[in-house]
Amino acid sequence: MTTLYRPELLYVDGTFVAGGELLVSADGLVLECGDKVDRAGVAVVEMPGKALMPGFVNAHSHSFQRLIRGKAESRVASGRDFWSWRGTMYHAASKLDPHQVYDVARMAFLEMVLAGTTTVGEFHYLHNAPDGRAYDDPNLLGKQVIRAASSVGIRIVLLRTAYIRAGFELAPDAGQMRFYESRKAFVENMAALVKDAFVGGGRVHFGVAPHSVRAVPLGELREIAAWARANRLPVHMHVAEQVAENAACVREYGSTPVDLLAAEKILGPDFTAVHGVHVTAEEIAMLARAEATVCSCPTTERNLGDGFVRADEMLAVGIRLALGSDSQAQIDPLEDARELEYHLRLSQQKRAILDHVGGQTLATNLFDSATVNGARALAISAGKLAPGEFADFITVDLGDLSIAGNSAEDLLSTLVFSMSRSAIRDVVVGGQFILRDQRHEYREEIVDRYKELHEAVWRDAAARR
Ligand SMILES: [Zn+2]
Repeated sequence: MTTLYRPELLYVDGTFVAGGELLVSADGLVLECGDKVDRAGVAVVEMPGKALMPGFVNAHSHSFQRLIRGKAESRVASGRDFWSWRGTMYHAASKLDPHQVYDVARMAFLEMVLAGTTTVGEFHYLHNAPDGRAYDDPNLLGKQVIRAASSVGIRIVLLRTAYIRAGFELAPDAGQMRFYESRKAFVENMAALVKDAFVGGGRVHFGVAPHSVRAVPLGELREIAAWARANRLPVHMHVAEQVAENAACVREYGSTPVDLLAAEKILGPDFTAVHGVHVTAEEIAMLARAEATVCSCPTTERNLGDGFVRADEMLAVGIRLALGSDSQAQIDPLEDARELEYHLRLSQQKRAILDHVGGQTLATNLFDSATVNGARALAISAGKLAPGEFADFITVDLGDLSIAGNSAEDLLSTLVFSMSRSAIRDVVVGGQFILRDQRHEYREEIVDRYKELHEAVWRDAAARR
């Protein structure tokens, strides 16, 4: 049935308006959004004391990495750099059976929903059985992740990942046996998965994710990118997260990853460079010219000691910034959004650095990175409330401790810099409530199953030490 939502404040075209209304069709699309909505014969949902706004879009997630939370914060367990941290992550990846892949994905997605996320872009590279052989259905684990998203109710863009080798002049790595596929197998499996889009009631979408220039050699990368474009799927890739990755690319190809991707015309409006931390001003200009998105994962980038994205220089030349929770060290879209600004403040010893850069206010720049820019990167009609878009939205309690004492004029800044997840009341995906007054149907079951899985995975690890 067509439904009319009547919150106290509604986010429309970049501002909160009092008395705004949102009309949603029976099939979960926005019909009208504003203050003069035709309301004949519709169900009305009154939402006093709440503000309604687009749900957050998490453009880069590895759901299984939720398992290493708290396990990689000591030098003894996980070393001191990204590459030793990766060993802990590979350990978790090596253990999981298909049921456990489902359980950990549900846990990560549940937490995302409770944090106001309505879409996740899942960069999925766990394909094979632990011994490195393909399952009878080579898409078994990808389908488990999709099933997990469908069970939780979150919209998913499965960014199926091509992972072909350990790196330039490197022998295959025992920790990566579950990731490897040939270029041919990748394309066949990806095509089969898209064709089999069997679950999800219209909430399942796809993209193509060559892991990195390290893991996908150029010849294969060209073919995979061409295949993605022929099939109108977005392309996501880890780019310039680590200095060592850039250096290896220079050794192999004589140019840095961004330079190489630009020269090969792999950059484009459908391309998202995940991280984009170690880039020069010239490379920022290349990304801008190509109209590529940069997806920053600020919580992960600071957790791993990667460095931070130069958001000021990127916004100034029109690059759209999206956000991802990546390693799941913490799942909080607005925390990621504010880090874009805070990292710059600490390094430049100034304030309000992203205010009116690229023509928008600071709060709008940060909010867009958590919503509409992620949706664009994932090629879905979401992240804003306008006719024809998915009705993916959240409500927040205007009396919550973290934001109480707000006005329509300052609410966006208050949310972006101060809101905690306790304020999030409802989460709606495709017109359906998946969180209603902070209750999720499967919360207890998901957490209980996750606790069992966590104990099993780390009990085995302890026994081996
Ligand atoms: Zn990643």
